[in-house]
Amino acid sequence: MKIDFDKNNGLVPVIIQDSRTQQVLMLGYMNEEAFKKTEKEGIVTFFSRSKNRLWTKGEESGNFLTVKNISIDCDQDTVLVQATPKNTVCHTGSFSCFGEKESKGFLYELEAKIAERIDHKTEGSYTYSLYQSGINKMAQKVGEEAVELVIEAKDSNDDLFKNEAADLLYHFLILLKAKGFAMEDIEKVLQSRNS
Ligand code: AMP
Ligand code: ZN
Ligand code: ZN
Ligand code: ZN
Repeated sequence: MKIDFDKNNGLVPVIIQDSRTQQVLMLGYMNEEAFKKTEKEGIVTFFSRSKNRLWTKGEESGNFLTVKNISIDCDQDTVLVQATPKNTVCHTGSFSCFGEKESKGFLYELEAKIAERIDHKTEGSYTYSLYQSGINKMAQKVGEEAVELVIEAKDSNDDLFKNEAADLLYHFLILLKAKGFAMEDIEKVLQSRNS
């Protein structure tokens, strides 16, 4: 990878993104030596401007960043590192340097939005109106979407298949909420089967 270290006195800004959720975790700088060390070890090492030396993130706290993928921007002067963090990333103790909490990914955000529509009785929301029509109707929708998915699975149109898969997930989340459960509860069941 060819990086333009000269543009900014030997340092390039490095964005650290959570490889699992795409959440932006922190920003640091690397010189060429830090970049090579990071590539070689698979653990993020920056050049710290305040310490004025190479700084392996987690060297004191043990909260290392394990590299999953490295990419360079269009004009080779900014690096994006997708990494998995161990524990928290920020030295203040918050999960990311840009916010307190850990993003768990889009499906969890959708789950939260569905819960909000239902809990706030949002008029005009499809989610809330389906919820109001009762458990039987919600369960029936899950069944219908599942059947549509089965039909599309036999076909060769990828877009239709993906759309039915999305419909099924969405209606599944509504049914879960209506039954008083969260995805976490189902995760626990799946996890217990693995151990
Ligand atoms: P660590 O690299 O996590 O062992 O932390 C060592 C030191 O680096 C801390 O005491 C902070 O001064 C600094 N530090 C750690 N994490 C960050 C961060 N996300 N942003 C800026 N400075 C940090
Ligand atoms: Zn650039
Ligand atoms: Zn921070
Ligand atoms: Zn459908």
